Amino acid sequence: MTDCLFCKIVSGGVPAKKVAETADVLAFRDINPQAPTHVLLIPKRHVAGSAAELSARDGALIGEMLALAARIASDEGLTSGWRLVTNVGPHAGQSVFHLHFHLVGGAPLGRFGT
Ligand code: AMP
Repeated sequence: MTDCLFCKIVSGGVPAKKVAETADVLAFRDINPQAPTHVLLIPKRHVAGSAAELSARDGALIGEMLALAARIASDEGLTSGWRLVTNVGPHAGQSVFHLHFHLVGGAPLGRFGT
């Protein structure tokens, strides 16, 4: 999508601090971190605006995203725990409409939220 911020990060048109990537997934640091570690994981292809648009055929991609999240959490030394969050729609405060997971950790987290 030409006017999608995260698609522009994938293409290099908008800079980002890359943390890791696989063939289909890119991970980079959130520009407004809510925890000592706050990494966003996105599919490189604009498969969905949010998790609400996913179906069973996206299972392999989601598995790849969660496995990469676990690897990053280990690399970042989040031995005391971490959280993976995806926001859907206005009540969740979603602001970018390209599927993404927030990986947060590095300090005690509240019960919910990013
Ligand atoms: P959400 O509100 O769940 O849609 O998450 C979008 C996230 O993208 C927010 O946490 C923003 O801080 C983050 N964000 C927005 N612009 C950028 C950017 N250029 N680079 C990195 N993260 C960004």
